[in-house]
Amino acid sequence: MAERSYFDWNATAPLRPEAREAHAAALSLTGNPSSVHAEGRAARQLVEHARADVARLVGARPADVIFTSSGTEANALALTPSIETAAEKKPRGKLLISAIEHPSVRSGGRFARDAIADIPVDADGRVDLAQLGAALLKTVRPLVSIMLANNETGVIQPIAEVAAMVHAAGGLLHVDAVQAAGRIAVDINALGADLLTLSAHKIGGVKGVGALIRAREDIHFPEPLIRGGGQERGLRAGTENVAGIVAFGAAAKASLRARAEEAAHMLALRNRLENGIREIAPQAVIFGAAVERLPNTTLFAVPGMKAETAIIAFDLEGIAVSSGAACSSGRVESSHVLAAMGVSPALRLGGVRVSLGYLTCGAEVGGFLAAWRKLGGGLCKGLSDRSGVAA
Ligand code: PLP
Repeated sequence: MAERSYFDWNATAPLRPEAREAHAAALSLTGNPSSVHAEGRAARQLVEHARADVARLVGARPADVIFTSSGTEANALALTPSIETAAEKKPRGKLLISAIEHPSVRSGGRFARDAIADIPVDADGRVDLAQLGAALLKTVRPLVSIMLANNETGVIQPIAEVAAMVHAAGGLLHVDAVQAAGRIAVDINALGADLLTLSAHKIGGVKGVGALIRAREDIHFPEPLIRGGGQERGLRAGTENVAGIVAFGAAAKASLRARAEEAAHMLALRNRLENGIREIAPQAVIFGAAVERLPNTTLFAVPGMKAETAIIAFDLEGIAVSSGAACSSGRVESSHVLAAMGVSPALRLGGVRVSLGYLTCGAEVGGFLAAWRKLGGGLCKGLSDRSGVAA
């Protein structure tokens, strides 16, 4: 197969070499971390070592890291009405979420449908703080869930301001930091988050591992997500995915060490990419361009261009990009994120997401722009009304 360029790091990142190595070593280990014999203790030691590395990535204490099977599961664990603190033992009556959350948050976890309220975002994709303030005034003991960075646009949310408002209203704040981790500095205490979600495969670990992290030990979940053998502080039973957790720890350690350098590298390439996209198609719209975004993410559209067709055309050119929109069954649907930002229905169907990583190189960005030029910058009728432009 000809060499391909991968620009879909927000969907999943390649396995980091450190994670691959640690994963392979852990797979050779026999012990169950719950066993008391030497083999079990060796497995436990690896899991606890990884817990410390994951905690360090976000400035938390190891004891506050709860490993899960994914970011999705961590979100499901967090979003529960029965969550308690030392000061507040009554159930949370309402879940407030932004309109641009990942589907795993938008589904509301264990809250009833009618207990979930949406907080709108502005045209740049940032949560509307005035609307959040108004919603908080009407809510007793809310749980609020706002992501740190959006998976489609990369737009970074003003979490410290949100946290101050939520706490002043007696609420708790959960932050989905799945896309932000490893790309911008994430410190659970500096953010003011009470709970934070991470996913291993977005930072170079393996798929199928995540973590929910508490800011303090007084945050309790009286109702476990999965009952059974009592693993992970009794919150999600099941023998730990030792190799996956170990790879998560290795990826977290490597991401933390290299983050600043990798972010600068991605930002330089992303700027070159965006300048090129605009130069070739001056009418291109780059969503969230006016506000703070992740250094690796570009979501753009050109009037008349359909994302589905553009993605196929790029794919035929050896370039993997995705639509900003939900694409779970291989079909592109209209983006709820762009809809929430007030983008017109026609442009919403055209959002193409290009997400870079630390391995992306200048030649690949050059290749992307050459393909974009060849494809007519979305203007040729090929991208708007047929699927195989490159043929
Ligand atoms: N939250 C956000 C913002 C995401 O982008 C994703 C994955 O795309 C998730 C949560 C879910 O993570 P996982 O794939 O580990 O279930």
